[in-house]
Amino acid sequence: MDTELEKALRSAGLRATEGRLAVLGALASLPHTDAERLFRAVSAIVPSTSIQSVHNILADLTAAGLIRRIEPAGSAALYERRIGDNHHHVVCSHCGAVADVDCVIGDAPCLTPSSAAGFAITTAEVTFWGLCPACQAATALPATP
Ligand SMILES: [Zn+2]
Ligand SMILES: [Zn+2]
Repeated sequence: MDTELEKALRSAGLRATEGRLAVLGALASLPHTDAERLFRAVSAIVPSTSIQSVHNILADLTAAGLIRRIEPAGSAALYERRIGDNHHHVVCSHCGAVADVDCVIGDAPCLTPSSAAGFAITTAEVTFWGLCPACQAATALPATP
């Protein structure tokens, strides 16, 4: 009996390898995670894995449209399983925490440029920047001696 993840991999034309399944499984509980942290999660399940094979798996899954890669300025590339809904991200300018923000209008591309220079626009990738709740709380605390 194929699991849902195995089916998703096969219908994308990829073999359901242990490494790919482990990366997809890790991303389910760790959205917006970089390769380094995914490697640590995956190596707990597949001890023979390497950082290079995690990078290869992430590239394959991204190319197959099974995961999405985002690159906030100043951050390593982050990966997530929430795909296809043109959602945006809010990034903490202090600690780099990332959260999802629903598409501003509801359908891709939720923003229409005033001039698209003849391009047919399909998506809009928007990054909102600010301070996350934890960093707001930290900066509101009185300074400790
Ligand atoms: Zn923060
Ligand atoms: Zn996201």
